[in-house]
Amino acid sequence: MTKQCSFVGTITKRCPGTAENSDLCHWHGPNETKSRPRDRRDLEAWAKSGKSMEGFSLLHADLENIDLVNKDGDEGFNLINADLNHANLRNSHLYNINLKGSALLKVDF
Ligand SMILES: [Zn+2]
Repeated sequence: MTKQCSFVGTITKRCPGTAENSDLCHWHGPNETKSRPRDRRDLEAWAKSGKSMEGFSLLHADLENIDLVNKDGDEGFNLINADLNHANLRNSHLYNINLKGSALLKVDF
């Protein structure tokens, strides 16, 4: 049986992701570093499907060249209250993205 991620955001509702080891999904779980080759692609697909990235745990994530530009909407994607400390965002496309409340210690832009 699949269990839904228990994360509840401030402007978004309950995370639609599937809970993995803990009660949290791959993106909200703090224990796994998002540095697999497919993480960048998966995160782009998540954002483009219109789902919020609020509160994502992206500590030390390797997201070089990621494209998180909302080409279909007036507003950028929502990446608020996320943990991006030490993430690699070199050459990333983040036009209009909302990073309010996100931790950006030593992000590599
Ligand atoms: Zn989640």
